[in-house]
Amino acid sequence: MAAIGVLSVQGAVSEHIDLIRRCGAEALPVKKPADLKRLDGLIIPGGESTTIGSLMKIYGLNDAITVRHHEGMAVFGTCAGMVILARELLDGYREQPRLALMDIIVRRNAFGRQKESFEAPVLVKGIDTPVEGVFIRAPVIVEAGNAVEVLAAREEGIVAARQGKLLAVSFHPELTDDLRMHRFFLEMCRA
Ligand code: GLN
Repeated sequence: MAAIGVLSVQGAVSEHIDLIRRCGAEALPVKKPADLKRLDGLIIPGGESTTIGSLMKIYGLNDAITVRHHEGMAVFGTCAGMVILARELLDGYREQPRLALMDIIVRRNAFGRQKESFEAPVLVKGIDTPVEGVFIRAPVIVEAGNAVEVLAAREEGIVAARQGKLLAVSFHPELTDDLRMHRFFLEMCRA
């Protein structure tokens, strides 16, 4: 059984843990570097990326996650998690602490403020029918490097992408009953 960690410093943690367990995998909260030891994959949840990034740095998780990723651990960022994975950010957020593992340029809050949150179906490459996308102050990818495979895009930009064992989506699959995005990630962890 695959062991999947969910970064538990801030954000939608319990929802991810619940979905991973419903997929039949083991889900473990991650608060400190030692928690990463035997993981096949790690999920970075939605929440507030400045808070998540700062706390990760304080707990020494940034370096530890990078090391484990280079050893083969897959990483899945949802919403704020996409921001944490981005090599570059636009619009005054450039310096915020993050992993910067994925060759993507991301615009935070690309759809506007909280009241501009919405739900819309998203057709993701590799999943046969659209998943329900819950967009809450969501980021988008405005530019992606050659190694990045675009999995879904809207008019505003790319909303799902993969680079090797990295997966990033703008929306919140953990706030729906649809397990397919998590199953997609579990397949990546096994590869
Ligand atoms: N706008 C938030 C950020 O950039 C992300 C929002 C979310 O995860 N729902 O941190």
